Amino acid sequence: MREDSVMSTKETIDFRKQVVEEVLEIYPEKAKKNRRQHIAVKDSECASCAVKSNAKTVPGIMTARGCAYAGAKGVVWGPVKDIVHISHGPVGCGYYSWGNRRNLAEGEIGVDNFVPFLFTSDFQESDIIYGGDKKLEKIIHEVVDLFPNAKGVSVLSECPVGLIGDDIESVARRMSEELELPVIPVRCEGFRGISQSLGHHIANDAIRDHLLGKGPAREIGPYDIGIIGDYNIGGDAWASKKILEEMGLKVVNIWTGDSTMEMLQNGHLVKLNLIHCFRSMNYIAKHMEETYGTPWMEFNFFGPTKIKESILKIAAQFDASIMEKALKVIEKYEPQMQKVIEKYRPRLDKKTVMLYVGGLRPRHIVGAYEDLGMEVIGTGYEFAHNEDYEKTIPALKEGTLIYDDVTALELEEFVKKLKPDLVGSGIKEKYVFEKMGLPFRQMHSWDYSGPYHGYEGFPIFAKDMDMAINSPTWKSIKAPWSK
Ligand code: SF4
Repeated sequence: MREDSVMSTKETIDFRKQVVEEVLEIYPEKAKKNRRQHIAVKDSECASCAVKSNAKTVPGIMTARGCAYAGAKGVVWGPVKDIVHISHGPVGCGYYSWGNRRNLAEGEIGVDNFVPFLFTSDFQESDIIYGGDKKLEKIIHEVVDLFPNAKGVSVLSECPVGLIGDDIESVARRMSEELELPVIPVRCEGFRGISQSLGHHIANDAIRDHLLGKGPAREIGPYDIGIIGDYNIGGDAWASKKILEEMGLKVVNIWTGDSTMEMLQNGHLVKLNLIHCFRSMNYIAKHMEETYGTPWMEFNFFGPTKIKESILKIAAQFDASIMEKALKVIEKYEPQMQKVIEKYRPRLDKKTVMLYVGGLRPRHIVGAYEDLGMEVIGTGYEFAHNEDYEKTIPALKEGTLIYDDVTALELEEFVKKLKPDLVGSGIKEKYVFEKMGLPFRQMHSWDYSGPYHGYEGFPIFAKDMDMAINSPTWKSIKAPWSK
């Protein structure tokens, strides 16, 4: 039985606060002071229980964070399928980010879909000494010769590019004029910022400066909408699109899962932009509103409760015909979702979860767990900002442990002491907890499953959580003679 299962809320809060203090004890004074600001327990006595966020990581502490290149190339630009993305610098960053984020895209590979490829300038010592601009020019020529259908080229800078004084902007300008093709320089060197987060911002700004508003003219239909910040992990964006189109809306753009260059150019030519991942794309959504008057709103397609809320909120922005269809969509799918809940809730009810993901899911997926009767007892982000925590905290139960940029040691210790029934986090965490005998689901890659968005996704989500928690494997962790 969990230590806190018989505790009152007050006792649970006190116990978890004590756990935090015990875990922090291991650090030297300076690190302890720093880390204490990033961890909180939700408590009615503190108004918001806000934790400090978006601050530099303490050195040597084993953060799970990535860099600006990961945020810009891995997250925002990489999924755009008809643009060739050059990882500009030495071979490592491109190689390690090659094909491991499951942003699915339709199209003929190598013809009009370059997502599964790695293009790199593969810097050598001579490029560091003499600069890489000439090499970049040559590569862009080669790319265009080999892949004549590429609609554009993006140059994603890795660390050395900004350190050796290369001028990729000037190369991009020249090449763009010569080839009559957008060539987009992105200054996402990994030393900028403190996490993936600045990479998102830099990537958004590059879309704003080089693509947005420069597409072929298009009439805006009365029901044209865009999905902003859905990277189509395991087909998520397709599952969301299906619902929106059944509601009578027309999804003309997706940013950037299964996205095209034209979608980025015409992102403002819609009646409404729906933003799923606020963290990675709020910048461009706000820009489209300020510059072109394109409204945007947030939505959440994880689990039937949030899907229903979102459908109604979205439909309310349109006319009665859309609301009518929206209600029919809910009527059609709710009984199916109810069947999923009837099947899985008895197997998952009251099970507890601890989450640690990037910039959206630590709050967005809470409702889907609650639909299955599960309780999130701990959650945290790698690279969220204050406004993300402000959106998160009201959605959490009192006593929930909240951790920002959690270290490997803290997460391991928190899990040991809070004893959740499931941990949902990334690949770097997965095997640590499985070796501890704990069910684990990857909440970035969906453990190669998915989609989890929409009505199509929820049954898969429920099945996956059940499969992890109720797997017979966990009964065989201890050798019979040591039980
Ligand atoms: S920090 Fe620099 S070297 Fe490391 S992955 Fe990011 S861009 Fe590449």
